[in-house]
Amino acid sequence: MKSISIIGAGPAGIEAASVLAKQGMPVNLFEKSSSPLKNIADKAFLFPNFAAASDIVDLMNKKLLNQNITLHHDTDIVKMQREGEAWKIVDGKGNAYYSDYVLMATGYTPFDAHRKEELGYGIYNGIVTSLEMEKMIRYNQIVNSLGEKPKRVVFLQCVGSRDEKSGNHYCSKVCCVTAVKQAIELKRQLPDTEAYIFYMDLRMWGQHFEEMYRESQQKYGVRYVRGRISEASGTFDGRVQVKAEDTLMGLPLKMTTDLLVLMVGMEASEGTKCLAKSCGICGEYGFAKSVDPHLGDCLTEQKGLFVCGACKRPMSINDAVNDGRAAAVAIMESE
Ligand code: SF4
Repeated sequence: MKSISIIGAGPAGIEAASVLAKQGMPVNLFEKSSSPLKNIADKAFLFPNFAAASDIVDLMNKKLLNQNITLHHDTDIVKMQREGEAWKIVDGKGNAYYSDYVLMATGYTPFDAHRKEELGYGIYNGIVTSLEMEKMIRYNQIVNSLGEKPKRVVFLQCVGSRDEKSGNHYCSKVCCVTAVKQAIELKRQLPDTEAYIFYMDLRMWGQHFEEMYRESQQKYGVRYVRGRISEASGTFDGRVQVKAEDTLMGLPLKMTTDLLVLMVGMEASEGTKCLAKSCGICGEYGFAKSVDPHLGDCLTEQKGLFVCGACKRPMSINDAVNDGRAAAVAIMESE
């Protein structure tokens, strides 16, 4: 039986490892952080069915309980190259591992909101990212900069996506529905708090997303404003003032809020960029490139090298799981 190295123990990498291990293939699974599924573990609930993220993490961790899987955590893979018929991958400490196949499942990195200086992140209190909001929801601690219950929360879409200035022209796909989900969770925890979502256009592409959007308005009273916030700044009393244009009304707008939540997009991680470049599979914006988006989306131009999950493009968790499974099938077919 041939062997495989999978780089990245996120939803895509774990699903692929589980499928291949069940078929008897020895799997070395490498994770740069101290435990798998870091990006999910900090979330509260997952769209569209509000499944508890902790339950999904537990179920996915159980998939790793297979004697054919060896998990190497705290192991950052920095290099990979073909040597004869095998692949050699090397970690940051100089340890080398050999296998017949490599699957890149290195995931994404969130957009760094500091790069949008005009939005005041890291400068003024009361401005948080969607990841920080997720933690506040998870631990039932949604508070403003003074540690008090917020009277108003504003969500801003498309931070670091669809944005010429940050160099990312693409849509990050999951942040629209994440804002709707977070606004609903906010209203469930704090029904008296006002919730506003500023959007360019809402992309409710998945099953049940449209229903969530409707429910957020009809049941929870979430308000939607079409327009982009151009500037955010702090006020003397610890609040945040935003300047925007309501593009439906054609009017400039100012608003104060207790919390401004920046819905940050997804970017290729440094690890993805570096590994993809070294193997000649670097695509647009630093993401890894597959052979064909229709019929070869887990294949690459390099023999024995496969790709899956959000290292290719922004992807939801359920899509990443399915893509990991698709990659496993592609690998088995190449035997
Ligand atoms: S999913 Fe929505 S918020 Fe995210 S980049 Fe696309 S349009 Fe903007």
